[in-house]
Amino acid sequence: MSNFAPVIKCKKCGGTFQPDLKTKGKWICPNCQAKNANLKRHYRSVADLIILGLIATVIFILIGFKQRGLDFGLILTAAHAVLLLVTIVFVYKSKAPWEDTTTKTLIWVVFGLALSFNVFIPLLTIGILNIPVLVIYTIIFPYLFWLNAQANKCIVTSSATGVN
Ligand SMILES: [Zn+2]
Repeated sequence: MSNFAPVIKCKKCGGTFQPDLKTKGKWICPNCQAKNANLKRHYRSVADLIILGLIATVIFILIGFKQRGLDFGLILTAAHAVLLLVTIVFVYKSKAPWEDTTTKTLIWVVFGLALSFNVFIPLLTIGILNIPVLVIYTIIFPYLFWLNAQANKCIVTSSATGVN
């Protein structure tokens, strides 16, 4: 498994190649020179966003615990923090997070829950719309959709690998 080298499909010519996992730049297709998104780097940035979320959540838990002690809301928040941690580990451990269904699903669950916790639930329960947080999510979600689309485009299906 240590020699596992992911293969991706070029979004332009459809040819398959092994992306340079060390580079921070775009993944250049050796067949047509098209610049493919560096998915490893993009998924790492998503993980870094989740790390920021985890730090904020831990601070929120500590403040809440100091003020109110342990309550149900805090237990839920702690469960969410564990989910964030698991997702970060999955992204960093995966050699090819863009083709890993578990990792990708975890990312959607994490951001879906974060949006609910920070925007929808406060709006529905106390009628407060957190505008700054909403602005952040209106930037993050299109990015996640874009990334998901890039990931799906470059996944090599088993039939395609057979041809190569
Ligand atoms: Zn190409």
